[in-house]
Amino acid sequence: MTMPEDMSSEIDEPISVAPVDGGCSSAAELKKAAKAAGASEILDRYAADYPMGPHDKPQSMCPAFGSLRVGLRMKRVATVLSGSACCVYGLSFVSHFYGARRSVGYVPFDSETLVTGKLFEDIRESVFDLADPDKLDAIVVTNLCVPTASGVPLRLLPDEINGVRIIGIDVPGFGVPTHAEAKDVLTGAMLAYARKEAEAGPVQRPEGRKDDRPALALMGEMFPADPMVIGQMIAPLGLATGPVVPVREWRELYAALDCPAAAAIHPFYTATTREFEAAGRSVIGSAPVGVDGTAAWLAAVGEAYGVSTDRIAAAQNAWIPAISGALANAPISATITLSGYEGSELLVARLLIESGAKLPYVGTACPRTAANQEDAAWLADKGVKVKFRASLEDDCAAMEAIQPDLAIGTTPVVQKAKTLGIPSLYFTNLISARPLMGPAGAGSLAQVINAACANKDRMARMQGFFEDVGQGDTAGIWEGTPNVRPDFRALHQKKLEKKARAAKAQEMI
Ligand code: SF4
Repeated sequence: MTMPEDMSSEIDEPISVAPVDGGCSSAAELKKAAKAAGASEILDRYAADYPMGPHDKPQSMCPAFGSLRVGLRMKRVATVLSGSACCVYGLSFVSHFYGARRSVGYVPFDSETLVTGKLFEDIRESVFDLADPDKLDAIVVTNLCVPTASGVPLRLLPDEINGVRIIGIDVPGFGVPTHAEAKDVLTGAMLAYARKEAEAGPVQRPEGRKDDRPALALMGEMFPADPMVIGQMIAPLGLATGPVVPVREWRELYAALDCPAAAAIHPFYTATTREFEAAGRSVIGSAPVGVDGTAAWLAAVGEAYGVSTDRIAAAQNAWIPAISGALANAPISATITLSGYEGSELLVARLLIESGAKLPYVGTACPRTAANQEDAAWLADKGVKVKFRASLEDDCAAMEAIQPDLAIGTTPVVQKAKTLGIPSLYFTNLISARPLMGPAGAGSLAQVINAACANKDRMARMQGFFEDVGQGDTAGIWEGTPNVRPDFRALHQKKLEKKARAAKAQEMI
């Protein structure tokens, strides 16, 4: 296994790790098996932290990519996966496709090692082999779907080996609905570990921080300039920014816990929030986006730190005119539908509305939490339909019904929009990878959005160009008439329904 270095990419990705039979596609059975294997406690906690939506299996990439990415981005942290080879292949591929410059450790298994408990012994051995304190601060071991369902007991791994911390987490697709929330699973587990260390005695001093102003920790992977912009915005309150969680090295966890408050810029960090609150820190929702969002957020931060109302007003007066000016200089007049799974959808929606866009629908794969309540209420007040835990079907139905000038969404939504001749943008790569905070964020969206909207004619020409190549089963160039046989399809559908009914009856026995 090579030593961890940093990942170069700041961008999450739209590629799905392929679902596997018996894996993503049979969540109910795996959940039942996991409970029978003694994983009830963790699954109940996940059910409370990450309530499921209308679907019980991931609709985007494998959730474990979220926690894998958090571990791979940290210095002196090694990552070991335990799961089916196809899942690990997909996760490893996606990690390296997006710039991971270190290896992903893997402990393979077969039915025998899984059933006899040898897999746990193999994991334990691999962790002991890896635990070199000269190279590592921590090792993260992750159970994917099948080992979680089989109850492979990572909690029985030692807490530390030769001073290297061992963090075992279960990240099954049948318990953690999105890759965003999987980031919270690992971040929360690491923060819990660091909190216990800090409570037990002195811990390492964070590197580099010379500022003695009170600091505000930030939760959420943002555009790299956003934390700096936030730092400038809270400077008039006499505050500085603390670490961004998920952190890049272990000792930043102590620095984050040392902050009197944390800002949940992304709203899905439920376990992480619990750890901050357990350490006696207050947690502030929403973010400094647009005019109203910035005014309310600066007031909430100021109140959390006991800053006087005059000083809060001074900070608001210092920033709001610049944000209003940036919004006025970059207007958007299009009708837009917006959906995504990064957690920043509601913040982007606020910016779009304040830029002048009409936004009838926002869908997010993330759940409603205390941290996004204010954003949801603000959007509802502007007449926006906000759908939490939105499914792909919800997002596509909204886009098809509204027929917007621009559809911003995940890969399948964008694909569908293109086939309908609707200009579209990927939320993950083209929208969430932009500055959103303060004056920098206020003007950043208009250019890309207005350019995409101007593509309407080109989309129509493309639609015309591809009109004759057919759709679905009949797509492509055919020498004769496609032999579609809807009767075969109907027969097969009947067989599938019969099989499903038999499986349901079997469940009831
Ligand atoms: S770990 Fe689970 S959710 Fe992820 S690809 Fe494998 S079966 Fe699917």
